[in-house]
Amino acid sequence: MDWHRELSYALSRATSHERHSRKLGQLKTSLANLLLHNHCLLCGASASALLCSPCIEELPLNTNSCQRCDLPLVNGVLCGECLTRSPSFERAICAFEYNATISHLINRLKHRNTPSVGHFLADFLAEKIRLEIAQIGALDLLVPVPLYWRDQRRRGYNQAAVITAQLSQKLQIPVIHALSKPRPRAHQQQLSRAQRLRDIRGVFTTTETLSGVHVGLVDDVITTGATVEAISSQLIAAGAASVTVFALARTPKDR
Ligand SMILES: [Zn+2]
Ligand SMILES: [Zn+2]
Repeated sequence: MDWHRELSYALSRATSHERHSRKLGQLKTSLANLLLHNHCLLCGASASALLCSPCIEELPLNTNSCQRCDLPLVNGVLCGECLTRSPSFERAICAFEYNATISHLINRLKHRNTPSVGHFLADFLAEKIRLEIAQIGALDLLVPVPLYWRDQRRRGYNQAAVITAQLSQKLQIPVIHALSKPRPRAHQQQLSRAQRLRDIRGVFTTTETLSGVHVGLVDDVITTGATVEAISSQLIAAGAASVTVFALARTPKDR
């Protein structure tokens, strides 16, 4: 963005409309956006992107992980769960290992109406997918994990859909909103794993035909993997040829 030109334009507009507080409000917003784009979101140093180069270097790329579900591993090829029972999806690909920095950035995306954070992080995920695409095989459609409609109205957007749109643009794969979430789930933390799986079942319903389609299912963070596993099984049951899961980050097992 040519911010110098935007700034002088905004200032010239402000001179001719300075009595109109609405215009000044808009000017304040655009100046805030301009300043935001020139300072690292994490450390405040000047930056040409959303983060400065040293902070980008520090981002925890998820490199040592289970070949199937992308769970961060200290060693080994498959995690204990994938060795015992294969998930219904082919692979999961997650750009980052979830830590305090990633949590901070994703919270910004979710609660502070900053979709640019989603675009920025999704570019790392698109790059990882591009490197793995020969192994994954071509995908026909990307499907975002839905957000209960009431959450979406409060937040203004579904963060998984923001990530999906960016992946679609970078990888040239179309998006379909094939899932809906008709009722809110019980509070996850208070449930056992078995209860959580029972609770998730039936929440997501496919609203489009996916017969024979290779689907990329997109979420922001994979925590236990129960949600994406439940949705993936439903997509397979609905006729999908395969499901590959994509997420910005994967939580390590001990958290
Ligand atoms: Zn920084
Ligand atoms: Zn695994």
